[in-house]
Amino acid sequence: MLKLTNTLSGELEEFTPADGKTVRIYVCGPTVYDYAHIGNFRYFVFSDILRRHIKSKGWEILEVMNITDVDDKIIEKALAEDVDLRTYTDKYTDAFFEDSELLGIERPEQIVRATDHIPDMVALVRDLLEKDIAYAEGGSIYFRVSAFPSYGRLSRIDTRELKVGARVDVDEYDKESPQDFVLWKAPKLDKEPRWETDIGTGRPGWHLECSAMSMKYLGASFDMHCGGVDLMFPHHENEIAQSEAATGKPFVRFWVHSEHLKVEGQKMAKSAGTFYLLRDLIDKGFDPLAIRYLLVSVPYRKQLNFTFDGLHQAAQSIDRIKEFLFRLSSAQLAAGEDASTAGVLDDARSRFDAALDDDLNTAVALAAVFDLIRTVNTALEAGTVREQNRARIEAWFDEVDRRLGIVRRASARGDKDSRVDELIAQRKEARAARDFALADEIRQQLTDMNVVIEDTKDGTRWRFE
Ligand code: AMP
Ligand code: ZN
Repeated sequence: MLKLTNTLSGELEEFTPADGKTVRIYVCGPTVYDYAHIGNFRYFVFSDILRRHIKSKGWEILEVMNITDVDDKIIEKALAEDVDLRTYTDKYTDAFFEDSELLGIERPEQIVRATDHIPDMVALVRDLLEKDIAYAEGGSIYFRVSAFPSYGRLSRIDTRELKVGARVDVDEYDKESPQDFVLWKAPKLDKEPRWETDIGTGRPGWHLECSAMSMKYLGASFDMHCGGVDLMFPHHENEIAQSEAATGKPFVRFWVHSEHLKVEGQKMAKSAGTFYLLRDLIDKGFDPLAIRYLLVSVPYRKQLNFTFDGLHQAAQSIDRIKEFLFRLSSAQLAAGEDASTAGVLDDARSRFDAALDDDLNTAVALAAVFDLIRTVNTALEAGTVREQNRARIEAWFDEVDRRLGIVRRASARGDKDSRVDELIAQRKEARAARDFALADEIRQQLTDMNVVIEDTKDGTRWRFE
């Protein structure tokens, strides 16, 4: 039974999809004005863990992620570089997905760009204008917060503090300014991109984009919506207001927010030298798998303090998993199954599942994995592990990998691995034929694939570096 903290109620609630079958989920995506930083990726890794967990429950998933490809910062930067909006945002959108792939983040079913959905946004604004919930002024269109009495329910802001009638029309504004917000923005700069529409010439506000696109693909009411905690207010509050005021239906059942990442205990800041992109860390020689491990290791509702010490420890944890699997795969084991080791596995598996069901407690799930490693290592030393135990433990590590994406299993039977087995067999033949030049060449090929081999009396063992 999956339980998640629903920001809407502030409580841990049991989650199942409304139709019992497909989880319809919207993940607020990146604003592509620059490369995403590791704080952004903490959030995207969290949404990936959530996604993988949902799939493990046997539900289908329909995940929609937006790409915010028009906003003040993007326009400013594209104008400064004198390139059109699409050229500018394509570069960072591609970089975002490249980085996501390096971090093992699965691709959502539907990736939607704001600028491809202007007619959907216009239709939503028109609806709000007709209902007299939106009003035009100075070429822009605003949402009248006083027309939506439950405004503030998600973030629990005190609505008495709302300065009703005051207006904010920038994309990024102070959290303490809960005022009428902009839906449609009249152009200010000469060269600013604009759309000619029947609600006027201009461009959409950021909040509008997420309401229009989520409802287009997921329906007026859907299961789940995610974002970092900073999006709770005003972004998500405004999404709820726009959507519910237009449709009269509850917008989202579960709101799930992940906490921020800090660097060495501080907010990420270029000036303090505490601002990192994924590529900065890869350039420093860190394995994306270790970075992912670090991001996964702290449950999403806790702040994560990124430190290089922590990253080194994450790399060591990955090594421990690899070493364990190497050791297990190359051990000489007797046939059959040892009951005590089987019990250790059952226990680890149920602790792992229960931890992830408990609001995605990745820290406890990882503790279950490492407890198993410790106990089975001792059992391997004592010679009690049997063939059947190995097969089941290896199969479970495949499952752990499907769920957390932190095990690159050396003994997995993937394509790359069968290629390794093939090369090792060829090398053996070459050596038997005393063709050492060929044997060396094959060894080099394996090294190039980051495969380390070791010749033992029982044959050649190998693992990924
Ligand atoms: P943006 O590209 O700025 O729209 O942000 C994309 C996502 O990253 C949002 O859901 C933010 O809440 C999240 N985010 C931004 N900064 C951080 C951070 N330091 N730690 C965790 N998540 C963050
Ligand atoms: Zn959004």
